[in-house]
Amino acid sequence: MAVNQQIPLLMELGSPGRRAYYLPKLDIPSKPVDEIIPKNLIREEPASLPELSELEAVRHYTGLSRRNHGVDVGFYPLGSCTMKYNPKINEDLASLPGLAEIHPYQPEETVQGALQLMYELEQDLCEIAGLDRATLSPAAGAHGELTGLMLIKAYHEAGGEGHRDEIIVPDAAHGTNPASAAMCGYKIVEVPSDERGGVSVEHLRQVVGPNTAGLMLTNPNTLGLFDENILTITELVHDAGGLNYYDGANANAILGKCRAGDMGFDVVHFNLHKTFSTPHGGGGPGSGPIAVRDILVPFLPTPTVEKDSEDCFVLQHNRSKSIGKVKGFYGNFLVLVRAYGYMRTMGPKGLKRASEDAVLSANYIMERLKDVYNLPYDRVCMHEFVLSAVMQKKHGVTAQDIAKRLLDYNIHAPTVYFPMIVEEALMIEPTETETKAELDAFIEVMRNIAAEVLESPEKLQQAPYHTVIGRLDETQAARRPIVRWQAAETEE
Ligand SMILES: *Cc1c(COP(=O)(O)O)cnc(C)c1O
Repeated sequence: MAVNQQIPLLMELGSPGRRAYYLPKLDIPSKPVDEIIPKNLIREEPASLPELSELEAVRHYTGLSRRNHGVDVGFYPLGSCTMKYNPKINEDLASLPGLAEIHPYQPEETVQGALQLMYELEQDLCEIAGLDRATLSPAAGAHGELTGLMLIKAYHEAGGEGHRDEIIVPDAAHGTNPASAAMCGYKIVEVPSDERGGVSVEHLRQVVGPNTAGLMLTNPNTLGLFDENILTITELVHDAGGLNYYDGANANAILGKCRAGDMGFDVVHFNLHKTFSTPHGGGGPGSGPIAVRDILVPFLPTPTVEKDSEDCFVLQHNRSKSIGKVKGFYGNFLVLVRAYGYMRTMGPKGLKRASEDAVLSANYIMERLKDVYNLPYDRVCMHEFVLSAVMQKKHGVTAQDIAKRLLDYNIHAPTVYFPMIVEEALMIEPTETETKAELDAFIEVMRNIAAEVLESPEKLQQAPYHTVIGRLDETQAARRPIVRWQAAETEE
């Protein structure tokens, strides 16, 4: 492993007595510590913590942040993740004290603005989905999927159809779909894709039946293709008594263009942290609201936000058929604030334009790369497309090598080896927020790499060369990860 530039660890910095702050003088009578903390819990020796000046701490964290790639640093074409630029105004909104500092137990009459924001965001999401009501509680896309499936289950059980135990999932599905269905206690029935990259309708006909609880589908799918038979597919499932779940994690291609409800779906989740302006990728708070058709409304999680007879906003906790709570309090509220700000600043026309530009960017890159990389499904794509590095592999260069080489150009790697139905897959999603100049620069880099494969394939196998950390030993990283600091003397 090549480490080009070592930043000392926080624990190795500073020296005793350095301080970054002073606490104000105590303005209440002090108490001996053993009156506050039980004796057996009191430390005998002070913890060995680094002692640093404020400047040392700032430099340390700034140094670390500069080793990371982020959308604020460079192009980030990570397919299925929608790493778009998130306007900073939405961060400003989420840090307004009136929103950031409210407490979840505050009386409802003191947080009417927050409740109104949630009420209106629910309406906006329902409009985008073409469905009737929504819940803002789920904290991620996968959490939305689980919640949606629990609603489908509750619906079937209430209708005396609790025996339905199968969820149909296409082979191109995002991995969370079968995982959520299994978590909800369902059996997974896989349907293959046809040669156009859509669901094989013929095969679907054979697997739907009296045990079908529902179908889970991403449309456009993970190949970035819009399913041409979508209405036939959802109708087949409805005719068999099942419900249709739309994975709208990545709704960036369809805003204001088509609606899950009109396509025959009964429940859909959106990832606010992909499509609606919450930065993501570092494991921070997310939000995966789901919108549902009227037949599923009685089962929605609690609480819901309602308007009472005096036009005041209230939280409804008692809903007799509800599946109950799926998250503490009301979901990740400040993510909801960002999404609300994004929708209000973009407006309906702006959202539609975002989708048009996202689709245009993806098609532009796809058309300009398909002569040097294999394009397994040569169709107009939506917000993303999937190339295959099979031609490069003949010269000993894999999708992974290409992804690593991109890092040398300050470009984040695309999603690789997914979807699994494409060999040596490179899944590219440029998003609407990049300029044409940036797209052109990426195209040039990708074409240069394709030329390098022919000239010096061995060079690519060792890339990257210009990053802080070079090519990792992935087996060691997985088998023997070192995830915490260890003092030098105790190190093995
Ligand atoms: C990202 C994604 C998910 C999962 O969302 P999380 O918030 O990561 O749980 C599900 N489906 C698709 C298509 C996605 O792109």
